[in-house]
Amino acid sequence: MHDVLIIGAGPAGLSAARWCDELGLDTLVLEQQEEVGGQLLSVHNPINNYLGIHATNGAELRDHFVDQIKTSDFDLWTNVEIESVDLKAKRVILKSGEELRSIATIIATGLRRRRLGIPGETEFEGRGIIESGARDRDSLKGKDVCVIGGGDAAAENALLLAEVCPTVTLVHRGRKMQARREFTEALPTNHCVTVFPESVVHRIIGSEQVEAVEIERAGAIKPFQMAVQGVLIRIGWEPNTDFISGQLELDELSYVIVGSQQETSVANVFAVGDVANPLAPTIAGAVGAGATAAKVIASRLGR
Ligand SMILES: Cc1cc2nc3c(=O)[nH]c(=O)nc-3n(C[C@H](O)[C@H](O)[C@H](O)COP(=O)(O)OP(=O)(O)OC[C@H]3O[C@@H](n4cnc5c(N)ncnc54)[C@H](O)[C@@H]3O)c2cc1C
Repeated sequence: MHDVLIIGAGPAGLSAARWCDELGLDTLVLEQQEEVGGQLLSVHNPINNYLGIHATNGAELRDHFVDQIKTSDFDLWTNVEIESVDLKAKRVILKSGEELRSIATIIATGLRRRRLGIPGETEFEGRGIIESGARDRDSLKGKDVCVIGGGDAAAENALLLAEVCPTVTLVHRGRKMQARREFTEALPTNHCVTVFPESVVHRIIGSEQVEAVEIERAGAIKPFQMAVQGVLIRIGWEPNTDFISGQLELDELSYVIVGSQQETSVANVFAVGDVANPLAPTIAGAVGAGATAAKVIASRLGR
């Protein structure tokens, strides 16, 4: 039995854990990945907007966080697979069979990239479907690529890849892109980039590696195949709440609904960071919410 069980070790979960420890709460953090840091590990650009630290990328900021928690006394288990959670009973059962109990629970499970759910998307992961334009740029040099999505991330990646790829086809569903003006103005002037609005990718095709995508364009009689060797999918994010859905109040996009003290609709269950922040997700917000939840729990437990 722990005082606090924290699920997720991104900035929100780590901050909550640091504060729980400082406030004398016996705390266990569960993280499904091998490494802590959450989305920070996908940030390949400098982070200049987290007050007090300038980091050349997310991994560097994560390392600062890890340095700071090294001396803390909470338990952190990584590579953990949760089998089931009973929020009311404050009970978590792991795939390994272990049962964990706590007085309070903090959900800090953040977001994951939204998926298309089309054939080929899973099969070609790491075999032509790339994770990041910035990180995988060198391996895509000289290859034709398709970027799927209509927001900032899709536009920015398309421009980045156009520096090394002969053709970049940007496919998005809407009539207009949702990206910032600096990107939407740069795209038409880039001779390597072609934008297909009102278009949908139905399939990613290949044998060993990605070889083509099947695209349906508005007004076209039938879908057509376009040869590409790389595909980058950037269609937004969604909260990691499937494992608790039905047990507490979620909004229409499945984010956890919380009050000003990060409390959820279930007594002594808190949600912090991006999983409970659909409007303004930031590292600072996640870290602050983690601290708030820990302080509220400590005061309720009389610490
Ligand atoms: C490319 C990019 C650039 C960004 N740039 C900035 C920036 O400049 N400034 C800024 O403030 N923010 C930036 N952000 C946003 C920032 O990274 C997030 O707001 C922040 O990481 C949210 O922290 P979090 O702890 O709430 O969630 P996350 O970082 O998503 O961490 C959640 C953790 O929970 C774990 N988890 C999920 N489900 C389970 C489960 N069932 N069991 C156990 N563990 C689980 C995940 O593996 C993950 O480690 C950026 C994000 C991206 C992707």
